[in-house]
Amino acid sequence: MEKKKILIIHTGGTIGMVPTENGFAPKPGVLLEELKNIRDLSSPDMPGWDLIEFEPLLDSTNIRYEQWNSIADAIALYYDKYDGFVVLHGTDTLAYSASALSFMLEGLDKPVVFTGAQIPLCQLRSDGRDNLITSMMIAADGVIREVSLCFGDSILRGNRAIKYSADGMMAFTSPNFNRLGDAGITIEYNHASINEYEKTGLHSGPLNIVKLKESRIAVIKIVPGIQFDIFEPIMLESLDGLVLETFGKGNIPDYDPALSRLISEASRYGTIVVVCTQCPAGTVSLGTYKAGSALVEAGAVSGGNMTTEAVITKLTYLLSKGLPKEEIRRLMQDDLRGELTK
Ligand code: ASP
Repeated sequence: MEKKKILIIHTGGTIGMVPTENGFAPKPGVLLEELKNIRDLSSPDMPGWDLIEFEPLLDSTNIRYEQWNSIADAIALYYDKYDGFVVLHGTDTLAYSASALSFMLEGLDKPVVFTGAQIPLCQLRSDGRDNLITSMMIAADGVIREVSLCFGDSILRGNRAIKYSADGMMAFTSPNFNRLGDAGITIEYNHASINEYEKTGLHSGPLNIVKLKESRIAVIKIVPGIQFDIFEPIMLESLDGLVLETFGKGNIPDYDPALSRLISEASRYGTIVVVCTQCPAGTVSLGTYKAGSALVEAGAVSGGNMTTEAVITKLTYLLSKGLPKEEIRRLMQDDLRGELTK
């Protein structure tokens, strides 16, 4: 059988960083040198690989829609040449990027696996080596033909993942959806979760890249005693989207009419208002409690059990497609890439 070939796309992040006077920072060429020292990468059991490195390499805190477009471009350019893709990325915004790409790569039928490291490859005890090798094996297996994230022992759907540990080696979790697989002594796939995605028929048709455009999306986390009037000046006509991270099942305090005033106003200007929960697990159900029903009346839509990462990137994707606002409101509540449980 012909050896599978993987393209590694290095965007930056801890995995390829070096210590500097001001802390760890990415340095061009370092990753390739480190990879040359990993003996396993030349094992006959590993797929063949090539590496492309972004210029500049970024700490992922600086990732914006332009880099998401560049990742999509690289995948589109080399789509026919490789069996799968591994995207090396900083962990801080990895879940956002994996989610964004899951929407942008319409018709994707090959594995795109995001990974990174908590400790750089050039340091003792780096987790980068194992994360990379496992991701390459998953990309070569071709079982998960969607955007996934592999970190530690977890193989997760990209648009279901969140970073939940700033210092643990199992840094990501997927609270509202089963893992796509487990990377234990052997790599085990959870076919039920993968198949569920395949049922949506998203693999049909050629790969089509939707480039993202800059959109103005604000996120407000509701806290006890929040004074909504503080936010009034920021969210008027110029805002494309407003994401509210509410309590529990979509609840907001009802002591302050400024919020519903704000949302009605935002909706009037065409701003899409989406309600998420700040609980890592569970589903928004608008109108369950009286404190919260104002959101529906004011025109907000439910984010269901989507992560905030998925909501922001899905909204950016739908806005970039230039769809009518009503259509965007409807699609935000639809499952497009397995990001939402209906
Ligand atoms: N700040 C780093 C980044 O996201 C953290 C990491 O890679 O783990 O690029």
